[in-house]
Amino acid sequence: MNIKTGGCSEDCSYCAQSSKHAATTGLKATKMVTVQSVLDAARVAKENGSSRFCMGAAWRDMRGRKTNLKNVKEMVIGVRELGMEACVTLGMIDKFQAQELKEAGLTAYNHNVDTSREHYPNVITTRTYDERLATIQNVREAGINVCSGGILGLGEKEEDHIGLLHTVSTMPTHPESFPVNALVPIKGTPLGDSTPIPFDAIVRTIATARLILPKTIIRLAAGRNVMSEEKQMLCFMAGANAVFTGEKMLTTECNGWEEDKAMFGRWGLKPMGARPVPETQLSEEAVEEQRRESLRGIEGVGVGSWEGVKADVRAAEM
Ligand code: SF4
Repeated sequence: MNIKTGGCSEDCSYCAQSSKHAATTGLKATKMVTVQSVLDAARVAKENGSSRFCMGAAWRDMRGRKTNLKNVKEMVIGVRELGMEACVTLGMIDKFQAQELKEAGLTAYNHNVDTSREHYPNVITTRTYDERLATIQNVREAGINVCSGGILGLGEKEEDHIGLLHTVSTMPTHPESFPVNALVPIKGTPLGDSTPIPFDAIVRTIATARLILPKTIIRLAAGRNVMSEEKQMLCFMAGANAVFTGEKMLTTECNGWEEDKAMFGRWGLKPMGARPVPETQLSEEAVEEQRRESLRGIEGVGVGSWEGVKADVRAAEM
């Protein structure tokens, strides 16, 4: 969910939310949405089977945004209370801001490296590759899961896909999530007339990521809505194991829940479910609800005895 649209001072040449492209895209900047509207949307996402709720704000960084950070933390706490994983993408953050988000219970922070170090200056000039890596380091050191991936189709060469994979696979620890986006060209942005990336390049990138990032969740992200069902499944066979789903993906269209549920049903794929939230981060009511859900999940897979159920719940809580 986009929690604050447009007006960003970065110049990412693929993005409609950059203020540098506002005159040509016509996108109007908005204020941050309310905490309640985010929690309402998260509830709907949960009812539709989503396990993680991602919130994105079009900011360069969080300097001087104390009130915004406070609101984001309330959103994180509320999403966690619903028993969902919470992810945010807020631009660059320092180690203190990362620590505050960790204390609020944030599961993951998204900060894509986008492309290879070599191609990066052709895409963004207002922030360096090393600044991106510094934010990722702050996130990692705060104990938050890193979600960092790339966008294919930014005018790069094949070697740049290798460069992107090299960057993420040589981080001190592999990112917990690696989103793979295919550029959705947006009219009015410098890359608005780009030629779509060939599908085989997407599958090859996913397959290589699966081999070199064996435990990472590979998330099919932007651009999935123009792929046929067969192509999406080929991505899953190559190693993808999650999707972004819902009404919108930031400012671009996204496959809807109903469509996704029907597709996964046809191919026998089941949602992973959210990992349990540490009880210290939950209200008493949310702890009870999580325990009930955990029991329902265990009953659903047919665990034998009641003692066995309780043991599994205890293990899941640790
Ligand atoms: S991709 Fe993010 S940082 Fe870049 S212009 Fe868009 S909102 Fe700003």
